[in-house]
Amino acid sequence: MERLVVVGGGISGLAVAHHALDAARRLGLPLAVTVLEAAGRPGGRMWTDREDGFVVEHGPNGFLDSKPDALELAGRLNASDRLLRASPLARKRFICRRGRLRRLPESPPTFLASRLLSLRGKVRVLCEPFAPPPPDGDETLAAFARRRLGPEALHFLIDPMVSGVFAGDPERLSLRAAFPRIAELEREHGGLFKALWRLRRTARRTPGSGPAGPGGTLTSFRGGVRTLVETLAAALGDAVVLGAPARRVERTASGYRVLAGTPERAVPASAVVLACPAYEAARMCEDLAPSLAEDLAAIPYAPVTVVATAYARADVPHPLDGFGFLVPGREGRPVLGTLWDSSVFGDRAPEGRVLLRTMVGGARRPDLAALPDRDLLEAVRAQLRDFLGVRADPVRVWVYRHDRGIPQYEVGHGERLARIADALRDLPGLFLCHNAYRGIALNDCAREARATAEAAVRFLTPPATFEDKESPA
Ligand SMILES: Cc1cc2nc3c(=O)[nH]c(=O)nc-3n(C[C@H](O)[C@H](O)[C@H](O)COP(=O)(O)OP(=O)(O)OC[C@H]3O[C@@H](n4cnc5c(N)ncnc54)[C@H](O)[C@@H]3O)c2cc1C
Repeated sequence: MERLVVVGGGISGLAVAHHALDAARRLGLPLAVTVLEAAGRPGGRMWTDREDGFVVEHGPNGFLDSKPDALELAGRLNASDRLLRASPLARKRFICRRGRLRRLPESPPTFLASRLLSLRGKVRVLCEPFAPPPPDGDETLAAFARRRLGPEALHFLIDPMVSGVFAGDPERLSLRAAFPRIAELEREHGGLFKALWRLRRTARRTPGSGPAGPGGTLTSFRGGVRTLVETLAAALGDAVVLGAPARRVERTASGYRVLAGTPERAVPASAVVLACPAYEAARMCEDLAPSLAEDLAAIPYAPVTVVATAYARADVPHPLDGFGFLVPGREGRPVLGTLWDSSVFGDRAPEGRVLLRTMVGGARRPDLAALPDRDLLEAVRAQLRDFLGVRADPVRVWVYRHDRGIPQYEVGHGERLARIADALRDLPGLFLCHNAYRGIALNDCAREARATAEAAVRFLTPPATFEDKESPA
């Protein structure tokens, strides 16, 4: 019997375990899987509190259905009947400019009529097809935006998008690593407008080919994203060991051994997947592979604190008719933005109440994420007063701290990943799978988990068996 040990029971680790067991079953490979999770519950960043009729997300509030990976995972777990699509209102998003919320344009006519960019800013965006080609090397998102769309679009379109996804700094994030699809569209089509136009034309000619852009509908589950985590963990049963922090990975004659738990014990493994944050993986590999550990430890993270506030509906003068708002860095406000969760998903607040979640901190203002609860709440309430006219006290408050919350794919990330891949070649049977490497979104985690599980099972399967038994599916 082979044993796969997965370190970390977030969505990446749980999904790796699920796919590995499934692939082994298909191949007739006797495989035991153990997921070692440091915390007392599974899910990592992906967790939900359910209290007094509120459904409050600690971190992610869903995934886009324009990519197949998370949906496919839900389908395999028979959880599709619990999927919850965002209200059509969620397409309406707002950006703050000079202290006022402006609607993010969704189409060419709304772009032209929008007050988010000045006339000059719009004309500059319309010059996008004439932008100079990309440089040879890696480029920051800010450099890309200035080159193709101009400075105003950088500040009021790209910067909030980067805040919303990475809580990151566009002057440091790598276009290729953080938003590879955008880099690919530019490379393949010679420009963004050209790419969108061609993709739209292809979509019109090929019914069922799906949406052209990153669009799609934000999707979650009844009861929050925790529903998926709990379904996965329940399917894995005893394979998930909670309260078992792993400390070190060592090599043995037959594979590896993971030192974990309190009191510490050695868990033997024929293969190991490190599905924990990169800085934790680094600590575990310090003795095993010092240069690998160095590269892993160098992946920067940004802290984010989520302040969820619930109000009586009557106390919020704003209609909350949308997804929420994002605040560009140059507005100089202490929040990254606020999501109007109860407007997006119907089950997030009880009748007569609303639930808002405000993000604080990020790569540019890590100090704010570390403020004490009282100061955080004061800062958030001041913003909700300014933007939404809320003066009343919240009826409930929740604070979730993600100290090293979101990995930052800065310029050089691609080269770092290449060095990490090189180092792993000397450690057969050791794999990495986490949002620190090839995609930050839940869909990316689900995709990478499947690929990693298949690679691990392939590694554990004698070649003849694999060739003979692998099904094309
Ligand atoms: C505030 C916030 C909002 C987000 N919003 C969205 C969103 O709306 N949509 C979206 O797609 N994505 C979103 N994301 C990103 C998404 O949540 C993450 O990419 C995803 O949850 C990461 O899952 P993971 O399993 O890779 O990592 P994690 O969730 O970090 O899981 C890693 C696990 O490893 C465990 N661990 C750590 N060290 C050890 C150790 N030594 N031994 C054993 N276990 C260990 C941890 O306890 C944890 O459970 C958001 C993230 C944050 C922080």
